[in-house]
Amino acid sequence: MAESNTTEEIQEFEYKAEMKQLLHLIVHSLYTHPEVAIRELISNASDALHKIRFRQLTDKDILSPDAPLRIDIAVDSEAQTFSITDTGVGMTKEDLTERIGTVASSGTLEFLEQMKEGDKPFDANLIGQFGIGFYSVFMITNEVTIETRHADADSKGFRWQSTGEGKFSVKEIERPQRGTQITFKLKDESKEFSESYRVEQVITKYSNFVDFPVSVNGKQVNTVSALWHKNRNEVTEEERDEFYKFISNDLNPPLGHLHLSLEGRVNFKALMFIPETPPLRFLREEDLNSLHLYSSKVFIQDDCKELLPEYLRFMSGVVDTEDLPLNVSREVTQSSPVMARIRDTLTGRVLSLLEDWVEKDSERYETFFRNFGLLFKAGLSSDFANRDRVLELLRFESTKTESGKLTSLKDYVAGMSEDQGEIYYLSGDHREAVERNPNLEYFRKQGIEVLFFMDPIDLFNIPHLLEYDEKPLKSIEKADIDLKTEEDSQDETLTEDATLISVFKETLGDKVEDVVASKRLVDSAVTLVVGADGMDAHMERMMKMMNQDFAGSKRILELNFSHPLIKNLAQLNQNQGDETLIKNCILQLYEGASLVDGNPVDPPTFVARMTEIMERATG
Ligand code: ADP
Ligand code: MG
Repeated sequence: MAESNTTEEIQEFEYKAEMKQLLHLIVHSLYTHPEVAIRELISNASDALHKIRFRQLTDKDILSPDAPLRIDIAVDSEAQTFSITDTGVGMTKEDLTERIGTVASSGTLEFLEQMKEGDKPFDANLIGQFGIGFYSVFMITNEVTIETRHADADSKGFRWQSTGEGKFSVKEIERPQRGTQITFKLKDESKEFSESYRVEQVITKYSNFVDFPVSVNGKQVNTVSALWHKNRNEVTEEERDEFYKFISNDLNPPLGHLHLSLEGRVNFKALMFIPETPPLRFLREEDLNSLHLYSSKVFIQDDCKELLPEYLRFMSGVVDTEDLPLNVSREVTQSSPVMARIRDTLTGRVLSLLEDWVEKDSERYETFFRNFGLLFKAGLSSDFANRDRVLELLRFESTKTESGKLTSLKDYVAGMSEDQGEIYYLSGDHREAVERNPNLEYFRKQGIEVLFFMDPIDLFNIPHLLEYDEKPLKSIEKADIDLKTEEDSQDETLTEDATLISVFKETLGDKVEDVVASKRLVDSAVTLVVGADGMDAHMERMMKMMNQDFAGSKRILELNFSHPLIKNLAQLNQNQGDETLIKNCILQLYEGASLVDGNPVDPPTFVARMTEIMERATG
């Protein structure tokens, strides 16, 4: 923070460049829902009250210990003013300069600009998802005053003022009580927010689930109700969806929910949701978890990671238990056996919900899997206890699904012919890449389904997934794959030519592990496959990306003796034809196959050789 002008009392600060741009963007482009500003102010007041309520549990030495926890809004339509006061934790001088004056996460601005330029109209509703909620206030006013005092007994009061343009000032003031008051005069076009009925409307729309009383000009307008404490059948779908929107900032209704009330070995109530689409923050913050922990209706922790394993962190909502002491600390929640029990139970319930969808609403399940599958799959290697359930819930594309459609291991096995003993897969970066892989040709022709593993995580999962239903999983790139030689391919009176094979071996030397006649190729002349101990091409490529020194394993080159080019080469070789041409073709075929596998070749050499071959072919 650049400190420009220090007088005895008022300190002036300048926003960072990024912050200025952000403010400009908010005020001039993101004005679709100005009432969002009110919601954000209430949400901040509520956060501050949660913080002090939690602190009060253990710390008696705070300012105004007896102040009731509440939010008071006062509006004056004559003067066109708005003010919101809370008895929350308040702000220190540092909070005012560092938390109010900066963009929380780097890249926020960039992201917002992209949103603005994208084809979707930017919805200011999203502001809360970025940790810049406070600034939405500049949509409806030109100047804001914050008066605040932190709950620490020895704190001082401060006044913060800004026009939201480039600077803000901070001044020490007398303020006896704890908490924050935010005051401003409304812009003419936003003067509706100085009418109490309009503010009440906004509160009912957005903030009905705030845990503290909110009043407008002295009249309480919200119903403080812990929805999750109600009976499942007393809560309407609408109430539930509203609650979801309130806690998630998501504009769409959730894909599904769980409302639990358990008594016995563990005691807790939970109201949790699976979003329809991953929230923005979810994608940007890798460890985001949106489950809030309550103890007997008292908010304990945001984003509580201990409530569900990482691979289920798409759930958002509230878990409320009486089994934890109210003054539970982060350390306790991390190691508590109560938490472990809650976590086990919740995990089981989430999996049951998903299993239920598989059975009754497969479309819903596919939507879920498409959006969260990447994360969910990690459960296979991380959640040993539920491995089998996770396995059943996995979905893959395959040679028999359209692009984007999914199949399960169970369906795969159901579609296997009697003499197929293995489950085949092929890995690659994306659908087009795997479809082009020459190793698929045989399987296509025989109508044998091959699963496509296209997420990097699939490759790391394979070791944990070595078999399903007692059938081993097998990469179709492996040389030792057990291909039945079908009659029709024998019809072709394949003359595999041992001398040609040895010319290949001689020419390629130690570039390859071996050269053999192929049983799997139909249309392509050659393909590279992996020895019994080697890695799939895709896996190897990724290992190389992660580790420059990773050498990889040698491949086996398979020749398709029914392919005209290989036939020609065999002929040419028998007739002791142009040796250089044969050698060049062999090298070219090898490098071509290598390229298909995603390995680099030396372009000048490759092109020079190609030119030479063409020259001879046309000469
Ligand atoms: P977020 O709420 O996502 O952190 P905001 O822009 O809404 O982002 O608020 C920024 C920060 O300002 C908050 O994290 C909090 O530290 C502080 N703050 C805002 N309003 C209040 C308030 N009424 N009481 C105490 N702190 C507040
Ligand atoms: Mg906020």
